[in-house]
Amino acid sequence: MDHGTANAARTLAARTRRAPDTEAVHAGRDDLARLGLHAPPIDLSTTYPSYDSRGEAARIDAFAADGAAPEGPPVYGRLGNPTVARFETALARLEGTESAVAFASGMAALSAVLLVRNGAGLRHVVAVRPLYGCSDHLLTAGLLGSEVTWVDPAGVTDALRPGTGLVLVESPANPTLAEIDLRAVAHAAGSVPLLADNTFATPVLQRPAEQGARLVLHSATKYLGGHGDVMAGVVACDEEFARRLRQVRFATGGVLHPLAGYLLLRGLSTLPVRVRAASATAAELARRLAADPRVAKVHYPRIGGAMIALEVHGDPHEVIAAVRLITPAVSLGSVDTLIQHPASISHRIVDPADRRGAGVGDRLLRLSVGLEDVEDLWHDLDGALGSGGGGSGAGRAGAAPARRAGRG
Ligand SMILES: *Cc1c(COP(=O)(O)O)cnc(C)c1O
Repeated sequence: MDHGTANAARTLAARTRRAPDTEAVHAGRDDLARLGLHAPPIDLSTTYPSYDSRGEAARIDAFAADGAAPEGPPVYGRLGNPTVARFETALARLEGTESAVAFASGMAALSAVLLVRNGAGLRHVVAVRPLYGCSDHLLTAGLLGSEVTWVDPAGVTDALRPGTGLVLVESPANPTLAEIDLRAVAHAAGSVPLLADNTFATPVLQRPAEQGARLVLHSATKYLGGHGDVMAGVVACDEEFARRLRQVRFATGGVLHPLAGYLLLRGLSTLPVRVRAASATAAELARRLAADPRVAKVHYPRIGGAMIALEVHGDPHEVIAAVRLITPAVSLGSVDTLIQHPASISHRIVDPADRRGAGVGDRLLRLSVGLEDVEDLWHDLDGALGSGGGGSGAGRAGAAPARRAGRG
C-alpha cells in the first residue's frame, strides 16, 4: 500500500542522483504515476483496518524495539502517516540525509531531539547564541530537564563534558543573521551530535549535513511551507537517530497533521524558485538600506537569503507602525514580506541582558522579504523609515500620513 510504496520510492530515489530543483518537484512522488495519480493523495485516516492482529502485534513490537517506520499498511496515525511520509522523504532528499521525521511545529521537533538525548542520560547541551527566542527559552528554563552552556563558536570544545548530548547552533541565526562555520563547529563537537537549525538558509542555500551536522532542524512553518498557512517542524538526519525520534514522536504525540504534510510537500516544489527570487530582492533591499543614512547597520548573510536585519537610528516601533504593504507580523518565509521587532516579539521571552548580549539590540528590526516587486517594497520601507532621525527624510514625513489616509 501507500506506506510500502513510499519505502520503494525511497529506494528508487537513492539509485538516481537528481539536482535539487528536480528533487523539489519529484521527491516523495515517485510512485504516483504507478498509482495512476498526478497530485499526491491525502490520507486522513487516524486508524487502519487489519484482520491480522498477530501481525499487528509483531509490527508494534518491531517498532518499539528499533523505531523503523513499520513496513506494510499503516497502523495508527501517531505511528506514521503516508502523506506525511512523502514530505519526510522529499525533505531528506533535499537535505541530503537518509531520513527525516516531521512534527507538529519547529518547537515540537526540537523538543523531540532533546527528549531523545535526555532519555539517553545526556542532558547537557552546548549552544551558541543567538537562537530563535523560544529555542533559547526551552534550554534556559530547563523545561525538559536539559542544562545549557552558552558559548561562542570557538568555545564549543572546552564546554564539552561526559554528559554532553548535543551542540546546537543556528546559521544564519535568528534574528541577527550571524553566520557560523558549520564545518568548524562540527569538528569541534567531535562525537557529540551537532544540530544545525537550517530554517533561515533552507537546503537551497546550505546543506548542513554535508558540513558535518548530524541533525538538521527546520521550522517548516517558515520557508518549507512558504505561504504562512502551515505549522510544522522537521528533523533531517541519519536513519539511526530518526528511529529514536519516531519512538519519541509516537510516545509524546507531537505528530504532523496529514493536511499539513500535503501542503509542505506542495511547498517544497516551489522552494528553490521562491528562495532564489526573494533572495535577489532581499540583496537589493539590503544594498539600499546599507546606503541609507536613516539606517545604522544592515546585517545580510554572505550566503544570501531572503532575511535582512537592520538597526535603525530612529524608533523601531514607529517603523513597524508605518508599513503599509509589508505586514507587521512575527514569523517569516512566506510569499509576502513581513517585518517585526525581535526585542518585542520573537525574542521577548529571552532575558533582556542575554538578548542584548547576543546582539539582539532594542533598535534591531527583522525583515522577511517575499515575492513582491522590489520597487514596491522599497517604496514602503522608504516611507516607513520616515525622517528616521538620520536627517535625509525631509518630505517623506509628509508622504506617510497621506498614504495612511488612503488606506482608510
Ligand atoms: C520559528 C522558528 C523556530 C520554531 O518553529 P515553530 O514552527 O514556530 O515551532 C525554530 N527555529 C527558528 C530559527 C525559527 O525561526
